[in-house]
Amino acid sequence: MIRDAATCDRPTCMAVYLEPDDLPEDQPFETAVAAAGWQRDDAAGHACPGCVRGTGPVLERGECPRCCGTTSDRKNGAVCHYCKHVSPYLDDDDLD
Ligand SMILES: [Zn+2]
Ligand SMILES: [Zn+2]
Repeated sequence: MIRDAATCDRPTCMAVYLEPDDLPEDQPFETAVAAAGWQRDDAAGHACPGCVRGTGPVLERGECPRCCGTTSDRKNGAVCHYCKHVSPYLDDDDLD
């Protein structure tokens, strides 16, 4: 399977967004990227949610589904160090 991917164009940022497995066929990849908190600018390219929020750049890769940043385990899920996205441990009830 070939997946689309977006990378953050800010200097030193290692953020990546991979096309999710469950992306509907009729949903453009750019829509999914935007829904994940990424911003796109014709001049500057993509900015990851961490850089958009001022909590980036991503310096270390991990498990975050939105920016591939490292996460830390909290009571309610794995919290991204960079974009602050919370990945619940039970993935059958993702309301995000
Ligand atoms: Zn970034
Ligand atoms: Zn993240």
